[in-house]
Amino acid sequence: MANKKLQFTYFWADEEVMQEDFAKKLSQGMTEWAIDFFGRYELDVDVNPPSGFKPRLLSLSKFALQKNDGVRPDRRPRWERAEALREKKKRMEEELARLRQAKEQAAAANNGPEVKRLEALIKDQEQRLDDMGDQIDAWLDRDENRLRELLMFKFVKDRMVHPERLTVVFCRFRYTSQMQMRLPKRGAIGQAYGKVPGDLVRLYGSSVVLPLWPDRFAIIDPFRGARKDVVHEAVHAAGHDHPIEDYLKSVEKTYRGRRLPGKGFEIPRGRSGSLSPDYDDPVFDVDETPQYDTFRGGIDDGPRDDVMNYAMDDPETWQVNLRPAHVELMKNAYFAK
Ligand SMILES: [Zn+2]
Repeated sequence: MANKKLQFTYFWADEEVMQEDFAKKLSQGMTEWAIDFFGRYELDVDVNPPSGFKPRLLSLSKFALQKNDGVRPDRRPRWERAEALREKKKRMEEELARLRQAKEQAAAANNGPEVKRLEALIKDQEQRLDDMGDQIDAWLDRDENRLRELLMFKFVKDRMVHPERLTVVFCRFRYTSQMQMRLPKRGAIGQAYGKVPGDLVRLYGSSVVLPLWPDRFAIIDPFRGARKDVVHEAVHAAGHDHPIEDYLKSVEKTYRGRRLPGKGFEIPRGRSGSLSPDYDDPVFDVDETPQYDTFRGGIDDGPRDDVMNYAMDDPETWQVNLRPAHVELMKNAYFAK
């Protein structure tokens, strides 16, 4: 039987990302890694544009989702982005209060034109705050949805996005400086997005509507990623999620016998320690804005030398393996032909 062929279509967030990636041969390195690695399991790889492809003007516009200012997915945790949005809202409310006060002063001084000018500004600011009200979720999914919108353009315009190929978008990721410090120099830091309901549309004004690309796709930062990233995200896209059970087992092992926050929990110095009346349970006695953080713990996914395990930062193809169940998964992937 002929080998199954895994089919990929690559895009770049913008022409600059594409050119720098090509100059440094980064996605090309990932493709070569994938060909070599999957080859061991009698799986062929078919990439569009083909490896070693030289981008010319036409192909730049074809394979770049935008000419300039491509999407830079915000990789901060969702709660942190929501927090930033609330901060922004607070600043807008402060500005509104300042404008209202200035208007009162102008009215007291009988400065008619100034009152008029400030009233207009107040109205604008009220409108902006109003618009912001229901936008938190839309804002949190903004990068993903923008990519889905651009992919739909590519689909409608020249059928370049195909539901039987794995779409990979190379883009620069945005991190907080804190996260950047904690990230390994290289490592699988892409993401595979799942399907979304097909009725998700983008509204342009009142009459123009475009459905968003509802199918799976993956994003990879070529400048931060490792050579195995295309393979790693392809296994995710084929249906494998990092297992939560193994993770929970390791949490249980780490915390077994340890005292958890609660009674007698010491409030870190420098934080307010008033007791919250909202909870009876002393576990929740610390009344403060919860502080969360993320760290890249080792996700125990398969053996150390499995391509889905994060143990090795940038392995050679022969240093890691595809477990037998995943060979089957890949053969049956929606992008395998
Ligand atoms: Zn992963």
